[in-house]
Amino acid sequence: MIRIGILGYGNLGRGVEYAVEANEDMELVAIFTRRDPASVKPRTNVPVVHADKAAEWKDKVDVLILCGGSATDLPKQTPAFAKLFNVVDSFDTHANIPAHFAAVDAAAKAAGHVGVISVGWDPGLFSLARVYGNAVLTNGTDYTFWGRGVSQGHSDAIRRVPGVKDAKQYTVPVPAALEAVRSGANPELTTREKHTRECYVVLEEGADAAAVEKAIVTMPNYFSDYDTTVHFISEEKLQRDHAGLPHAGFVVRSGATGKDGEHRHVIEFNLKLDSNPEFTACVLAAYARAAHRLASEGAKGCKTVLDIAPAYLSAQSGAELRAALL
Ligand code: NAP
Repeated sequence: MIRIGILGYGNLGRGVEYAVEANEDMELVAIFTRRDPASVKPRTNVPVVHADKAAEWKDKVDVLILCGGSATDLPKQTPAFAKLFNVVDSFDTHANIPAHFAAVDAAAKAAGHVGVISVGWDPGLFSLARVYGNAVLTNGTDYTFWGRGVSQGHSDAIRRVPGVKDAKQYTVPVPAALEAVRSGANPELTTREKHTRECYVVLEEGADAAAVEKAIVTMPNYFSDYDTTVHFISEEKLQRDHAGLPHAGFVVRSGATGKDGEHRHVIEFNLKLDSNPEFTACVLAAYARAAHRLASEGAKGCKTVLDIAPAYLSAQSGAELRAALL
């Protein structure tokens, strides 16, 4: 049995609790939280422990799955907890991955642990699809589309606009752009041509709808480069129709081979997820198994999904995989 710990009990932490149950070679031994443990009520009867007491569990946890947020939690937590445990995180701030890798690598190497970072679907499974596509079709172009799905970062940005009580934002791929890419035409696409943004907003009482809409659609980085539509709805409707965290996405590599590139090839990997955190948690669980195996073989330091061979993810043996899935 691989003994798993969870650090942080939000959407992803709850997802990992399900994912561990779905893997027969894993057991959940503790949930660590920065809040008062008595205030955190897991779905199962696993012990809840304050994160400050994690060192006492050093020899009782094989892999700690970090479920904190990428913005401020993981840059501190992953290097700190790599000193105590083998760790896996889902750090998804793409631009800061090199710095995060360096910090986790130093901490994990010094302590003799394995730290797997940026596990999930993007970064994660989509990164693998991009690297496979690039390595195989060297003469080609990469495309990644996200959605239709909820972007928590964009939803949070809308909630910070004065006059907004609550909001959900959906990122939506433009169908014509996706079709052009799938045809193998290798189009050059601007940000605006690839995705649109749909916002469902509940106003505070007395708020000025026109001012809120203007503040959203002109917001730099988040909305100003996109065609954005804003729908004002009631709180009940938001809770009834927009409570979930679905997501989806497409990675496409389109390329050419042969004389003057006469033969076109398109590789597509796509996902359609009812629950982004529950799916991400399943990927984290598979990489926790890999971290455990790598550590058992004496590996040390930081790894990403690009460094880990696929067989390490599976509960099946090499012989079983060669017979059934190769
Ligand atoms: P979240 O629900 O906001 O949880 C983040 C942390 O906030 C929790 O670990 C928890 O830590 C704390 N928290 C949660 N509920 C709380 C409450 N009621 N009161 C006080 N604190 C609470 O975030 P999430 O949806 O789990 O997402 C975590 C990260 O996963 C995201 O930042 C994102 O970067 C990453 N992610 C990555 C991928 C990928 O494909 N790589 C996909 C999806 C998400 P404590 O228990 O310690 O308080």
